[in-house]
Amino acid sequence: MKVLVTGGAGFIGSHVVDFFIREGHEVVVVDNLHTGKVENLNPRARFYQVDIRSPELEEVFAKERPEVISHQAALVNVRESMLKPMLYAEVNILGSLNLLELARRYEVKKIIYASTGGAVYGEPEYLPVDEEHPINPLDPYGASKHAVEHYLHLYYLNYGLEYISLRYPNVYGPRQDPFGEAGVVAIFTGQMLRGEQPVINGSGEQERDFLYVEDVARANILALEKEGCGIYNLGWGKGTSVNEIFRLLKELTGYPGKAVHGPPKQGEVFKICLKADKAKRELGWEPLVPLEEGLKATVEYFRRNLA
Ligand code: NAD
Repeated sequence: MKVLVTGGAGFIGSHVVDFFIREGHEVVVVDNLHTGKVENLNPRARFYQVDIRSPELEEVFAKERPEVISHQAALVNVRESMLKPMLYAEVNILGSLNLLELARRYEVKKIIYASTGGAVYGEPEYLPVDEEHPINPLDPYGASKHAVEHYLHLYYLNYGLEYISLRYPNVYGPRQDPFGEAGVVAIFTGQMLRGEQPVINGSGEQERDFLYVEDVARANILALEKEGCGIYNLGWGKGTSVNEIFRLLKELTGYPGKAVHGPPKQGEVFKICLKADKAKRELGWEPLVPLEEGLKATVEYFRRNLA
């Protein structure tokens, strides 16, 4: 099939592209390189440096006529979204709507959407969080990502455009930005390999459901094969503390220093993990890469790539 991957030069999107190509699909990438990098691009994908908000996006649809879209492009920084809520709505909501309108007009069959379990549920009322949990985003990033799920549903109801929304947990792995604001695995790995002191926010007892990026890419493949619509959590259903991540990475990198704690980050969920039973039942998806193995592959990647 011909698949258009938005954000295909980014961390997760580039792995999604690699998986689609490996599965024999023809892949077209749209990315404005805001955080994406040319070196992440699979050479077998056709690349268009286009903003998802821009009118030029139509030229890509007219020329390529994609059958399926995997929509990974977004602004993804929670803290930045608090400072720039309008910008987050423009890119994440209006950019997605621009894409949906073109999908409708150019008769795309299906759209796979990168949603977020970490940011749409808010402070969990129970753990692990399933898809029935109330939606209470705490920040403009989460609200903007969730808003698109409503549009996906109404485009299905009104125009028959099928969708699968995958609510990712904390994704980590090769190509994640080690200088970013979020992504504790990449940040700590980068710092430890450079011999810098990582600082754990607060007690370090906060927990996240850490999922290796290839498990996320594989879910996109399964979503493509699934008939019909649905919203699915991805994750282990089990949290790991930031202290434990520090300990494991210290071992893997050989970092000699001790853990240092700073002030806690305000407004962040304390503990979250996602129940992915529905994805297992209906998509045949389950995580395959255990945390220790995924961290090892990540450290090896950064060792090779951090000069
Ligand atoms: P990323 O920043 O590496 O990837 C986003 C990509 O989108 C980048 O390549 C960027 O250049 C591109 N992009 C941004 N604005 C654009 C625009 N206006 N037009 C075209 N391209 C644009 O981030 P990521 O972590 O790989 O996130 C990918 C997707 O996964 C996002 O939709 C994000 O909301 C979702 N997600 C990520 C995580 C995580 O843990 N990383 C968790 C939940 C959901």
